[in-house]
Amino acid sequence: MSEKPKLAMYWASSCGGCEISVLNIGDKILTVDAVFDLAFFPCIADFKVSDVEGYPDGYIDVCLFNGAIRNSENEEMAHLLREKSKILVAYGSCAYEGCIPALSNLTTAEATFNAVYHDNPSIENPEGVRPQLVSQVPEGELTLPAFYNTVKSLDQVVPVDYYIPGCPPEPPQIWAVLEAVVAALTEGAELPPPGSVVGAGTVAVCEECPLEKNVKTIKRFYRPYEITPEPGICLLEQGLICMGPATVSGCGALCPQVGMGCRGCYGPLPGVEDQGAKMLSAIASVVDVGEPNEEEDELEHKIAEAMETLADPAGTFYRFSMAHSLLRRIKANGGGVQQASS
Ligand code: SF4
Repeated sequence: MSEKPKLAMYWASSCGGCEISVLNIGDKILTVDAVFDLAFFPCIADFKVSDVEGYPDGYIDVCLFNGAIRNSENEEMAHLLREKSKILVAYGSCAYEGCIPALSNLTTAEATFNAVYHDNPSIENPEGVRPQLVSQVPEGELTLPAFYNTVKSLDQVVPVDYYIPGCPPEPPQIWAVLEAVVAALTEGAELPPPGSVVGAGTVAVCEECPLEKNVKTIKRFYRPYEITPEPGICLLEQGLICMGPATVSGCGALCPQVGMGCRGCYGPLPGVEDQGAKMLSAIASVVDVGEPNEEEDELEHKIAEAMETLADPAGTFYRFSMAHSLLRRIKANGGGVQQASS
Protein backbone atom coordinates (compact mmCIF):
# COMPACT_ATOMS: atom_id res chain seq x y z
CA MET A 1 0.00 0.00 0.00
CA SER A 2 1.22 3.54 -0.82
CA GLU A 3 2.85 5.51 2.02
CA LYS A 4 1.66 8.84 0.65
CA PRO A 5 -0.46 11.00 3.02
CA LYS A 6 -4.19 10.48 2.59
CA LEU A 7 -6.49 13.32 1.50
CA ALA A 8 -10.28 13.37 1.72
CA MET A 9 -12.85 15.91 0.62
CA TYR A 10 -16.51 15.66 1.49
CA TRP A 11 -19.56 17.67 0.41
CA ALA A 12 -22.35 18.03 2.99
CA SER A 13 -25.02 20.74 2.69
CA SER A 14 -23.50 23.10 0.12
CA CYS A 15 -23.68 24.10 -3.53
CA GLY A 16 -20.61 22.23 -4.78
CA GLY A 17 -18.56 25.38 -5.41
CA CYS A 18 -16.02 24.35 -2.77
CA GLU A 19 -15.19 21.15 -4.68
CA ILE A 20 -14.70 23.18 -7.84
CA SER A 21 -12.53 25.70 -5.99
CA VAL A 22 -9.93 23.00 -5.34
CA LEU A 23 -9.48 22.68 -9.11
CA ASN A 24 -8.95 26.46 -9.25
CA ILE A 25 -5.44 25.99 -7.87
CA GLY A 26 -4.51 25.22 -11.50
CA ASP A 27 -1.43 23.15 -12.25
CA LYS A 28 -0.71 22.81 -8.52
CA ILE A 29 -3.41 20.15 -8.57
CA LEU A 30 -0.67 17.95 -10.09
CA THR A 31 1.42 18.51 -6.96
CA VAL A 32 -1.57 17.56 -4.82
CA ASP A 33 -1.86 14.39 -6.89
CA ALA A 34 1.86 13.67 -6.53
CA VAL A 35 1.89 14.24 -2.76
CA PHE A 36 -1.43 12.73 -1.64
CA ASP A 37 -3.43 9.59 -2.17
CA LEU A 38 -7.15 10.21 -2.31
CA ALA A 39 -8.92 8.33 0.48
CA PHE A 40 -12.42 9.75 -0.08
CA PHE A 41 -13.61 12.30 -2.62
CA PRO A 42 -17.10 11.25 -3.81
CA CYS A 43 -17.45 14.24 -6.15
CA ILE A 44 -14.65 13.04 -8.42
CA ALA A 45 -14.08 9.36 -7.68
CA ASP A 46 -16.24 6.37 -6.86
CA PHE A 47 -15.72 6.02 -3.12
CA LYS A 48 -18.35 4.49 -0.86
CA VAL A 49 -19.11 5.29 2.76
CA SER A 50 -18.25 1.66 3.55
CA ASP A 51 -14.69 2.36 2.30
CA VAL A 52 -14.33 5.06 4.97
CA GLU A 53 -15.96 2.90 7.63
CA GLY A 54 -13.32 0.27 6.92
CA TYR A 55 -10.36 2.62 7.53
CA PRO A 56 -8.61 2.57 10.91
CA ASP A 57 -9.20 5.67 13.06
CA GLY A 58 -6.93 8.56 11.98
CA TYR A 59 -6.17 6.88 8.63
CA ILE A 60 -6.99 10.05 6.64
CA ASP A 61 -4.26 12.68 7.18
CA VAL A 62 -6.35 15.67 6.17
CA CYS A 63 -10.04 15.92 5.41
CA LEU A 64 -11.46 19.05 3.79
CA PHE A 65 -15.10 19.01 4.88
CA ASN A 66 -17.32 21.47 3.06
CA GLY A 67 -20.99 22.11 3.62
CA ALA A 68 -23.19 22.84 6.60
CA ILE A 69 -25.00 20.28 8.76
CA ARG A 70 -28.56 20.38 7.41
CA ASN A 71 -29.67 16.79 7.97
CA SER A 72 -28.87 13.55 9.79
CA GLU A 73 -26.68 12.22 6.96
CA ASN A 74 -24.48 15.34 7.09
CA GLU A 75 -24.09 14.85 10.84
CA GLU A 76 -23.30 11.12 10.58
CA MET A 77 -20.64 11.84 7.95
CA ALA A 78 -19.16 14.57 10.14
CA HIS A 79 -18.76 12.09 13.02
CA LEU A 80 -17.36 9.39 10.75
CA LEU A 81 -14.83 11.67 9.06
CA ARG A 82 -13.80 13.18 12.42
CA GLU A 83 -13.05 9.70 13.69
CA LYS A 84 -11.08 8.69 10.60
CA SER A 85 -9.11 11.96 10.12
CA LYS A 86 -6.02 13.30 11.86
CA ILE A 87 -6.79 16.85 10.67
CA LEU A 88 -10.40 17.89 10.03
CA VAL A 89 -10.77 21.20 8.20
CA ALA A 90 -14.03 23.17 7.98
CA TYR A 91 -13.53 24.15 4.36
CA GLY A 92 -15.51 27.11 3.03
CA SER A 93 -18.21 29.26 4.54
CA CYS A 94 -20.95 26.60 4.89
CA ALA A 95 -18.82 24.33 7.08
CA TYR A 96 -17.23 27.28 8.88
CA GLU A 97 -20.32 29.39 9.63
CA GLY A 98 -23.44 27.86 8.04
CA CYS A 99 -23.48 30.20 5.02
CA ILE A 100 -26.56 30.33 2.73
CA PRO A 101 -28.13 27.07 4.04
CA ALA A 102 -28.19 28.57 7.56
CA LEU A 103 -30.31 31.50 6.38
CA SER A 104 -33.16 29.02 6.81
CA ASN A 105 -32.53 29.42 10.56
CA LEU A 106 -34.55 32.61 10.07
CA THR A 107 -37.57 30.36 9.65
CA THR A 108 -38.54 26.77 10.51
CA ALA A 109 -38.17 23.40 8.79
CA GLU A 110 -41.97 23.25 8.49
CA ALA A 111 -42.10 26.62 6.69
CA THR A 112 -39.25 25.51 4.40
CA PHE A 113 -41.11 22.31 3.46
CA ASN A 114 -44.29 24.29 2.83
CA ALA A 115 -42.46 26.67 0.51
CA VAL A 116 -40.75 23.85 -1.40
CA TYR A 117 -43.57 21.28 -1.64
CA HIS A 118 -46.83 23.25 -1.30
CA ASP A 119 -47.07 27.06 -1.35
CA ASN A 120 -45.18 27.63 -4.53
CA PRO A 121 -46.65 28.69 -7.91
CA SER A 122 -44.39 26.31 -9.83
CA ILE A 123 -45.40 23.26 -7.76
CA GLU A 124 -48.23 20.92 -8.70
CA ASN A 125 -48.73 18.61 -5.77
CA PRO A 126 -52.50 17.98 -5.31
CA GLU A 127 -51.95 15.03 -2.97
CA GLY A 128 -49.62 17.04 -0.75
CA VAL A 129 -46.80 14.53 -1.07
CA ARG A 130 -43.71 15.19 1.03
CA PRO A 131 -40.43 13.28 1.38
CA GLN A 132 -40.79 10.56 4.01
CA LEU A 133 -38.05 9.23 6.26
CA VAL A 134 -39.11 5.67 5.42
CA SER A 135 -40.97 4.42 2.31
CA GLN A 136 -41.98 0.87 1.52
CA VAL A 137 -41.50 -0.23 -2.10
CA PRO A 138 -41.81 -3.72 -3.62
CA GLU A 139 -38.05 -4.12 -3.42
CA GLY A 140 -37.92 -3.26 0.28
CA GLU A 141 -37.55 -0.21 2.52
CA LEU A 142 -36.16 3.13 1.33
CA THR A 143 -34.91 5.72 3.80
CA LEU A 144 -34.03 9.42 3.62
CA PRO A 145 -31.98 11.51 6.05
CA ALA A 146 -33.93 13.50 8.66
CA PHE A 147 -34.22 17.20 7.81
CA TYR A 148 -33.19 19.31 10.82
CA ASN A 149 -34.98 22.42 12.06
CA THR A 150 -31.65 24.18 12.63
CA VAL A 151 -28.68 24.28 10.26
CA LYS A 152 -25.36 23.99 12.11
CA SER A 153 -21.75 24.69 11.30
CA LEU A 154 -19.33 21.73 11.35
CA ASP A 155 -17.82 22.70 14.71
CA GLN A 156 -21.28 22.67 16.27
CA VAL A 157 -21.36 18.88 15.85
CA VAL A 158 -17.71 17.71 16.00
CA PRO A 159 -14.34 19.23 17.04
CA VAL A 160 -12.63 20.99 14.10
CA ASP A 161 -8.87 21.53 13.74
CA TYR A 162 -8.82 24.38 11.20
CA TYR A 163 -11.13 26.68 9.29
CA ILE A 164 -10.67 27.88 5.71
CA PRO A 165 -13.15 30.71 5.01
CA GLY A 166 -14.65 31.83 1.71
CA CYS A 167 -17.58 31.13 -0.57
CA PRO A 168 -15.66 29.51 -2.05
CA PRO A 169 -12.08 29.86 -0.69
CA GLU A 170 -9.69 31.65 -3.07
CA PRO A 171 -6.96 29.58 -4.84
CA PRO A 172 -3.89 31.23 -3.17
CA GLN A 173 -5.37 30.50 0.28
CA ILE A 174 -6.24 26.91 -0.64
CA TRP A 175 -2.75 26.29 -1.90
CA ALA A 176 -1.15 27.94 1.16
CA VAL A 177 -3.06 25.56 3.41
CA LEU A 178 -2.30 22.43 1.39
CA GLU A 179 1.35 23.45 1.20
CA ALA A 180 1.50 23.89 4.99
CA VAL A 181 -0.03 20.44 5.50
CA VAL A 182 2.40 18.88 3.03
CA ALA A 183 5.37 20.56 4.77
CA ALA A 184 4.13 19.33 8.15
CA LEU A 185 3.62 15.78 6.92
CA THR A 186 6.82 15.46 4.88
CA GLU A 187 9.33 17.74 6.67
CA GLY A 188 7.90 17.96 10.17
CA ALA A 189 7.16 21.70 9.81
CA GLU A 190 4.87 23.20 12.42
CA LEU A 191 1.18 23.59 11.67
CA PRO A 192 -0.78 26.66 12.79
CA PRO A 193 -2.27 26.39 16.31
CA PRO A 194 -5.40 24.20 16.38
CA GLY A 195 -8.60 26.20 15.92
CA SER A 196 -6.93 28.72 13.59
CA VAL A 197 -8.74 30.33 10.70
CA VAL A 198 -6.15 29.77 7.98
CA GLY A 199 -6.01 31.46 4.62
CA ALA A 200 -7.48 34.72 5.94
CA GLY A 201 -5.82 37.98 6.97
CA THR A 202 -6.13 39.80 10.27
CA VAL A 203 -7.66 43.10 9.13
CA ALA A 204 -10.91 44.12 7.44
CA VAL A 205 -11.50 43.79 3.68
CA CYS A 206 -11.59 47.63 3.63
CA GLU A 207 -7.86 47.59 4.43
CA GLU A 208 -7.04 45.75 1.23
CA CYS A 209 -9.67 47.57 -0.86
CA PRO A 210 -8.15 50.33 -3.03
CA LEU A 211 -11.39 52.36 -3.29
CA GLU A 212 -11.18 55.83 -1.69
CA LYS A 213 -12.84 56.12 1.74
CA ASN A 214 -14.08 58.95 3.97
CA VAL A 215 -15.32 60.90 0.96
CA LYS A 216 -19.12 60.76 1.34
CA THR A 217 -21.94 60.05 3.76
CA ILE A 218 -25.34 58.74 2.75
CA LYS A 219 -29.01 59.45 3.27
CA ARG A 220 -30.36 56.15 1.93
CA PHE A 221 -29.28 52.76 0.59
CA TYR A 222 -29.53 51.48 -2.97
CA ARG A 223 -29.74 48.02 -4.45
CA PRO A 224 -27.07 47.27 -7.09
CA TYR A 225 -29.50 47.69 -10.02
CA GLU A 226 -30.61 51.16 -8.86
CA ILE A 227 -27.39 53.14 -9.36
CA THR A 228 -24.13 53.00 -11.24
CA PRO A 229 -21.41 53.61 -8.66
CA GLU A 230 -18.90 56.41 -9.16
CA PRO A 231 -15.56 54.71 -9.99
CA GLY A 232 -12.77 54.75 -7.41
CA ILE A 233 -15.00 55.60 -4.42
CA CYS A 234 -16.06 53.34 -1.55
CA LEU A 235 -19.32 51.61 -2.45
CA LEU A 236 -20.73 51.80 1.07
CA GLU A 237 -20.29 55.57 1.04
CA GLN A 238 -22.41 55.62 -2.14
CA GLY A 239 -25.25 53.73 -0.44
CA LEU A 240 -24.42 50.27 -1.78
CA ILE A 241 -24.21 47.69 0.98
CA CYS A 242 -20.67 46.42 1.32
CA MET A 243 -19.70 44.13 4.20
CA GLY A 244 -16.02 45.13 3.91
CA PRO A 245 -15.83 46.81 7.34
CA ALA A 246 -17.13 43.68 9.09
CA THR A 247 -15.33 40.99 7.06
CA VAL A 248 -11.83 39.64 7.45
CA SER A 249 -9.37 40.20 4.61
CA GLY A 250 -7.67 37.52 2.54
CA CYS A 251 -9.70 37.54 -0.67
CA GLY A 252 -7.96 40.62 -2.12
CA ALA A 253 -11.19 42.70 -2.04
CA LEU A 254 -12.08 41.24 -5.43
CA CYS A 255 -15.81 42.08 -5.36
CA PRO A 256 -15.66 45.82 -4.45
CA GLN A 257 -13.06 46.35 -7.18
CA VAL A 258 -15.59 45.32 -9.82
CA GLY A 259 -18.41 47.40 -8.35
CA MET A 260 -20.09 44.67 -6.29
CA GLY A 261 -20.18 45.17 -2.52
CA CYS A 262 -18.38 42.60 -0.38
CA ARG A 263 -20.88 39.91 0.64
CA GLY A 264 -18.98 38.95 3.79
CA CYS A 265 -18.07 35.38 2.81
CA TYR A 266 -14.69 35.34 4.59
CA GLY A 267 -16.47 35.77 7.91
CA PRO A 268 -15.88 38.05 10.90
CA LEU A 269 -12.66 39.74 11.96
CA PRO A 270 -10.55 38.05 14.63
CA GLY A 271 -12.14 38.64 18.04
CA VAL A 272 -15.55 39.57 16.57
CA GLU A 273 -18.25 37.14 17.62
CA ASP A 274 -21.11 38.47 15.53
CA GLN A 275 -20.41 39.74 12.00
CA GLY A 276 -23.93 41.16 11.57
CA ALA A 277 -23.71 43.25 14.73
CA LYS A 278 -20.30 44.57 13.66
CA MET A 279 -21.81 45.60 10.30
CA LEU A 280 -24.62 47.47 12.02
CA SER A 281 -22.10 49.70 13.78
CA ALA A 282 -20.29 50.31 10.45
CA ILE A 283 -23.61 51.34 8.87
CA ALA A 284 -24.22 53.79 11.70
CA SER A 285 -21.00 55.60 10.84
CA VAL A 286 -21.95 56.34 7.21
CA VAL A 287 -25.63 57.29 7.55
CA ASP A 288 -25.94 61.05 7.96
CA VAL A 289 -29.56 62.19 7.89
CA GLY A 290 -29.72 64.69 10.76
CA GLU A 291 -29.48 68.49 10.93
CA PRO A 292 -27.84 70.46 13.77
CA ASN A 293 -30.21 70.93 16.77
CA GLU A 294 -32.81 68.65 15.25
CA GLU A 295 -35.57 67.28 17.53
CA GLU A 296 -34.92 63.71 18.62
CA ASP A 297 -38.28 62.47 17.30
CA GLU A 298 -37.64 63.92 13.86
CA LEU A 299 -34.15 62.44 13.81
CA GLU A 300 -35.45 58.99 14.76
CA HIS A 301 -38.03 59.23 11.99
CA LYS A 302 -35.36 60.09 9.40
CA ILE A 303 -33.11 57.25 10.57
CA ALA A 304 -36.03 54.81 10.32
CA GLU A 305 -36.77 56.07 6.79
CA ALA A 306 -33.12 55.58 5.77
CA MET A 307 -33.07 52.06 7.23
CA GLU A 308 -36.29 51.21 5.36
CA THR A 309 -34.28 51.48 2.14
CA LEU A 310 -31.98 48.68 3.30
CA ALA A 311 -33.43 45.49 1.80
CA ASP A 312 -33.42 42.34 3.94
CA PRO A 313 -31.03 43.42 6.75
CA ALA A 314 -30.95 40.00 8.46
CA GLY A 315 -30.31 38.12 5.22
CA THR A 316 -27.71 40.69 4.19
CA PHE A 317 -25.73 41.02 7.42
CA TYR A 318 -25.90 37.30 8.30
CA ARG A 319 -25.76 35.91 4.75
CA PHE A 320 -22.76 33.73 5.62
CA SER A 321 -22.60 33.70 9.41
CA MET A 322 -26.08 32.94 10.75
CA ALA A 323 -25.25 29.55 12.32
CA HIS A 324 -22.17 30.96 14.06
CA SER A 325 -23.78 34.24 15.11
CA LEU A 326 -25.11 35.16 18.53
CA LEU A 327 -28.59 34.65 17.06
CA ARG A 328 -27.78 31.19 15.67
CA ARG A 329 -31.43 30.84 14.78
CA ILE A 330 -34.67 32.67 15.42
CA LYS A 331 -38.09 31.15 15.63
CA ALA A 332 -41.56 32.50 15.09
CA ASN A 333 -43.06 33.59 18.37
CA GLY A 334 -46.51 35.04 17.77
CA GLY A 335 -45.98 38.38 16.07
CA GLY A 336 -42.28 38.61 16.89
CA VAL A 337 -39.18 36.49 16.91
CA GLN A 338 -36.94 35.23 19.65
CA GLN A 339 -33.58 33.58 19.95
CA ALA A 340 -33.84 29.81 19.99
CA SER A 341 -31.46 27.24 21.37
CA SER A 342 -31.98 24.32 19.02
FE1 SF4 B 1 -14.03 48.88 -0.18
FE2 SF4 B 1 -16.43 48.04 0.68
FE3 SF4 B 1 -14.63 48.80 2.47
FE4 SF4 B 1 -15.81 50.60 0.89
S1 SF4 B 1 -16.80 49.36 2.45
S2 SF4 B 1 -13.60 50.48 1.36
S3 SF4 B 1 -16.04 49.44 -1.03
S4 SF4 B 1 -14.45 47.05 1.07
